[in-house]
Amino acid sequence: MSSEIEVVDEVESRDPAINGGGAAGGGVSGEASGIGAADESLRNDVYTAAAYGDMEKLQRLVEFEGCSVSEPDGLGYYALQWAALNNRTAAAQYIIERGGDVNSVDHTGQTALHWSAVRGAIQVAELLLQEGARVNTADMYGYQTTHVAAQYGQTAFLYHIVTKWNADPDVPDNDGRSPLHWAAYKGFADCIRLLLFLDAYKGRQDKEGCTPLHWAAIRGNLEACTVLVQAGKKEDLMMTDNTGLTPAQLASDKNHRQVAFFLGNARRLLDKRCDGNSRLGQLSKLGLAPILWCIILLLLVTYIHSAIIASELPRLTAGFGLLAWFGVFLASAGLVLFYKCSNKDPGFVRMNVHDPQSMKDEEPLLKIEINNPALLAGNWSQLCATCKIVRPLRAKHCSTCDRCVEQFDHHCPWVSNCIGKACTHL
Ligand SMILES: [Zn+2]
Repeated sequence: MSSEIEVVDEVESRDPAINGGGAAGGGVSGEASGIGAADESLRNDVYTAAAYGDMEKLQRLVEFEGCSVSEPDGLGYYALQWAALNNRTAAAQYIIERGGDVNSVDHTGQTALHWSAVRGAIQVAELLLQEGARVNTADMYGYQTTHVAAQYGQTAFLYHIVTKWNADPDVPDNDGRSPLHWAAYKGFADCIRLLLFLDAYKGRQDKEGCTPLHWAAIRGNLEACTVLVQAGKKEDLMMTDNTGLTPAQLASDKNHRQVAFFLGNARRLLDKRCDGNSRLGQLSKLGLAPILWCIILLLLVTYIHSAIIASELPRLTAGFGLLAWFGVFLASAGLVLFYKCSNKDPGFVRMNVHDPQSMKDEEPLLKIEINNPALLAGNWSQLCATCKIVRPLRAKHCSTCDRCVEQFDHHCPWVSNCIGKACTHL
C-alpha cells in the first residue's frame, strides 16, 4: 500500500522541524520511524484514520465509539495535524466540523497549519485558513508556517500563503533566522528565488552573525550561493559572522572548494564592475562601442582629408572619385547602423513600476500576481529578484545593463549592448 510508505516517510521527515535542530545541527533523528508501518495503519484511533484519510474509520470512531477529535494523541499531536500533514482535506473538514480547533497547538507550539507546510499541502492549508487558522503563529522555536515551508522547500505552498493570506515571508525565528536563511541552508534555490522576489532581506544576520549566504556556503550549496550572489551586492560577500569569517572563508573551511572558488571569483568580478561609481567601472559599463565608433570616424575623416581631397596629390579621375566617395558613403552608413545597434532596445522586459498617480487606492501593493500561470506551473526561475518581474521563458537578467532581456543571448562588449530578441529584426 502506497499510503503506508507515505506515513513512514512523513514521520522521518517531520523530525527536523519538530526538533528544530538549529541550522547548525539539523540532523534527522528518525527515531519514530521504528514503528512498523503495517501495525500503524491498523491502529484503531482517530489520529491514524486522519493521517490516512480513512473517512469510514474516522466516522465510525467519532459517531459510534464516541472518540474525540479535539484531544491530542499520546505524543501530544492533534488529529487535525495528522490530516494536514498528509493533505487529507475531507478528513480535516470533518474534524473541524466535529469540533477540532484549527488553532490548537501541540507541545512544541505548532499548529495544523505548520504541519500542512511540511509537504506543501495547499488544499488543507486553504481550508484551515478559511476556517480561521492564524497564519503567523510561531512555535517554541519561533518558526512560523513560512519557516517550515522554507525548511522543506515547499515553494508553491509559500507562494500561496504569502500572496493570498499575507503570511510574513521575512520574519526571524528565535535564533534570528528568516525563511531565507533556512532555504539557503537546505539549498532550495527556487524557494530562495521566491523569497528574494518577495523582498526578503539578504543581509539579515542571525544570532551567530550569519547571513543566508553564510549558511549556503557552510553547506556547500552552489546553486543557492549562485542565486544569492546574482541578486546581491559586493557587501553580501564581504559580510563577516561573529567569528570574523566571510562566506568564502567558511566554504573553504568546510572544504567546499567549488563554492569557495565561485564566491572568490564573484567577489573579484564585483570588485571590478561595481566600483560602479569609479571611472574604471563606468568605462567598463560603457563597453568598446564608443571607442570603436571614434576610431572608425577618425579613420574616415583622415581618408577624406588626406586621400580624396588632398591638394598635394594629383586630382582623381571621375570614375575613381565616384568609387572613393562611395566608400565614404558605405563607411558612414556603417557608422549609423553601428550607432543604432548600440542604442536599440535589445528586448528589455518591461519593468513592473507602480505609477503612483495611476494607482488606485484599492489596488493591492502586491508585486506578484496571485495566479500567475508561470508560477502556478512551478517555473520559479522566471522570477527576477532584481527587476521584480515574472519574466517570459528564455529571458535572462543582464548584469551589465541591469535589466531583463527577452531571449537573452549575451552582452556584447563590441556594440555595448545585449543581444536578444529584438536583434533578430533590426
Ligand atoms: Zn532582471
